[in-house]
Amino acid sequence: MKPNKSLHKHNAGSKFNINGKADNSEGIRIENEIISLAKLPAENPNPVMRLGFDGTILYVNNAGVPFMRTWNISPGDKVPENIYQMISGIADGSYRDIEIECCDKIFSFTVVPIANEGYINLYGHDITQQKLADDRLRFQANIIQNISDVIYAFDLQLCITNWNAAAEKLYGWKERDVIGKSVFEATGTKLDPKKQEELGRVLLEKGIVRTQIEHISKSGSTLYLDSITMVHKNGDGQTIGYISDNRDITDKVLAEKAVKESEEKYRTMIETAQEGVWILDAQRNTKYSNARMAEMLGYEQEEMYGKPWHFFVNEKVQIILDTKMRNPGGKKAAKESFEYTLKRKDGTSLWVIINSTPLYDHEGSYSGSFSMLTDISKHKKAEDALAESERRYKELVTNAKSIILKQDARGRFTYFNEFAQKFFGYTEDEIIGKTAMETIVPKTESTGRNLIKMMKNINEDPDKFSVNINENIKKNSERVWVEWHNKAIFDQAGNKTGLIAIGIDITERKKSEDALQEARQMLNIALENAGIGLWEWDLQTDEVVWDEKLEKMFGLKPGSFGRTYSDFENLVHEEDIPHVQKSLKNTIEKGLPFETIFRIKLENRKPKYISSKAFVNKNKAGKAVKFNGVCFDITGMREETEHLLLALNEELLRSNKDLESFAYAASHDLQEPLRMVISFTQMLEKYYKDKLDETGLEYIHYASEGAKRMYDLLNGLLDYSRIHKKGKAFNVVDINQVLNTVIKNLSFKIEEREAVIKIRRMPVVVADESQMIQLFQNLIANSIKFSTNTPRIDVSCRSDNNHHIFSVKDNGIGIEPQYFDKIFQIFQRLHVRRKYEGTGIGLAICKRIVEHHGGKIWVKSEQCSGSTFIFTIARMSAE
Ligand code: ADP
Repeated sequence: MKPNKSLHKHNAGSKFNINGKADNSEGIRIENEIISLAKLPAENPNPVMRLGFDGTILYVNNAGVPFMRTWNISPGDKVPENIYQMISGIADGSYRDIEIECCDKIFSFTVVPIANEGYINLYGHDITQQKLADDRLRFQANIIQNISDVIYAFDLQLCITNWNAAAEKLYGWKERDVIGKSVFEATGTKLDPKKQEELGRVLLEKGIVRTQIEHISKSGSTLYLDSITMVHKNGDGQTIGYISDNRDITDKVLAEKAVKESEEKYRTMIETAQEGVWILDAQRNTKYSNARMAEMLGYEQEEMYGKPWHFFVNEKVQIILDTKMRNPGGKKAAKESFEYTLKRKDGTSLWVIINSTPLYDHEGSYSGSFSMLTDISKHKKAEDALAESERRYKELVTNAKSIILKQDARGRFTYFNEFAQKFFGYTEDEIIGKTAMETIVPKTESTGRNLIKMMKNINEDPDKFSVNINENIKKNSERVWVEWHNKAIFDQAGNKTGLIAIGIDITERKKSEDALQEARQMLNIALENAGIGLWEWDLQTDEVVWDEKLEKMFGLKPGSFGRTYSDFENLVHEEDIPHVQKSLKNTIEKGLPFETIFRIKLENRKPKYISSKAFVNKNKAGKAVKFNGVCFDITGMREETEHLLLALNEELLRSNKDLESFAYAASHDLQEPLRMVISFTQMLEKYYKDKLDETGLEYIHYASEGAKRMYDLLNGLLDYSRIHKKGKAFNVVDINQVLNTVIKNLSFKIEEREAVIKIRRMPVVVADESQMIQLFQNLIANSIKFSTNTPRIDVSCRSDNNHHIFSVKDNGIGIEPQYFDKIFQIFQRLHVRRKYEGTGIGLAICKRIVEHHGGKIWVKSEQCSGSTFIFTIARMSAE
């Protein structure tokens, strides 16, 4: 309390002025009360004091004694100056309460000046507790006003009753704006009714509810609050409203939201990344793997979770990765990138690039690793393929059986493959860096060509001389011919850096080409002298080219031939045209060699005989496209041979005739005496049987056997020579009938050997019937005879335009190929008579009959698998 100076002045000897207040009724009431109290001052538990106007203590009750001690005075002394000042300040007559502290307590003294008595009474009571409560209240009000928490209260009608400064600041509403308004309106609550109901229920049940809430400020911005609302009760425990304490967490919520969003964003990014993402914990167990990572390793994402890394990394790589991913020295390892193989679920390996970063917790300890993996298996495969192709290419060039070399721009060898080294006889050291002129190219070729100039040209423009044949020289001075294929090489900027050359040794080819050249010249001379003309006929363009010799042969002037096929045909004798056409047709269609003789018409002269031969060229499809042929004049030759032939023929005919007549006569005439020998030998045997000894009988037996055989031979010979002689005019003969007769004639043998004879459909032919019977009979009889097991014989026939082709097939002993011709000669047999009976005439007769019918006979056989006799009979126009 501030001392009043004017009162102090007044205090010096002047009286208290108590006018004015002394007669007011409140004053009287209090005074009376005090008076009554003063009557019992000693019992009063509250301190009571009486002072003189000068501050002297006139009286003090028991409860006031502690003040004396505190002030260190006794009654009769003056109160301390500061106390006196408080009292004198009210000495103007008004009542006042003053506060005095004593013994850690606060006392309120009512100062009552009793002016007319000349003293002042002080009635005190302990207000320590009340004071503390007041302070607390004041303090709390202060706190509520100044606290950063947003605090407001609302009554049971949910209308705002209190609204602190923080609320004003946060919501933008002043307290006066919101008092009495609905709490929802004031705070802009956006709560769905269900949640609101729920919160209300909890609040009523528990008296307090905490929730995170979204409000709208006056300016319309969204606020996030951590809100505690509690029930407000009065002293009687009655609910009188609610107090809500809110903390603004808008920034935190927004930051959290932002973090969540960005986390979401990164998670999506990682999850959908094209790279594999793999997070391991400190123990190397999989903490996370994104979809791509799982896919790369062939797992489901969940399958990988928690699995230790050695599931996916083989041991060798583990060791390397461990040192790279971990941080052994405690220092933070740098980000690492390396290429390794991982183990896929199916056991295969996967090549990846791993970008790995070690992870550390907030204390700096290693907590795992974050790795990004890129699948480079395709790239690796391509790399391997490239390396392989390079290796193969190198191998190819090194081991090639061709000379391969490279020269730089100045013509010095930079590469010389192994083959080239061997071929030319130089080692790599000897040749690399040297020029061709210094080593493998002679100055002058054996043809006399200057090679210095040639090399200069090639080096200047290899592509212009891309193919070049020249003579080369080996280290041992041997000369060789090489066909070179040159190609210029350029750097990336397009500058010529040299050439690459591939060489083929053509020395041998060159030699044979030279020989061919010589042979060609010789041939020309020969053609010239032999009177051979050359021709060519292109079937596609019908162009016919003749050389001069041919034109001369045909009586034409050089260059006057018309150059088409019909121009040629016009020169051929009409009668021979069909025959020439047929030959050409056979060659074109059947691929037979072309060889023909025709006559050419010459004015006023005898026709010339021309022999022509040709070969035909075919295209890829096998079609004839071109004839290359020769013609030679055989007129002179022909005339000569014709004469000779005629003479020979006549001679032959005559001699044949003689022979035939002789054979016929001999066999015929010998038959009679032989028959006599036979009958007399038989008689000798019959009548002198008893008179002869065993040897005599044996001799007779041999004689009769020999005679019989001779008889057979003579008969055969007679048959043989009769074939021409007795040949009747040909008739229409049904071979089916012929074979019936043959089967009948051979029935005994057939039955004896149980032969099976299969006869297919036979044609009707124009022939000598009895000869046909003989022919088939001989063949079938042989088939039965020359077999060791049950004979099976197949007789068949097919026909073409010109012939009937018969075959008699058996399952007999067969014939060795070297005897295929021999067996058709007369008296030729392959076996002794004891084994297979016979005279050796049968097949000779068959041959004669067949030839008599314009055909041929031959045999096909393999030993032990039977024989097939095939013969043809010319078809007659009468058929
Ligand atoms: P022959 O039958 O009287 O001996 P051929 O002139 O008929 O005389 O036959 C000549 C030879 O040809 C026979 O001795 C025999 O060696 C052989 N030959 C003929 N036909 C057959 C056949 N079907 N199978 C095996 N050999 C045969």
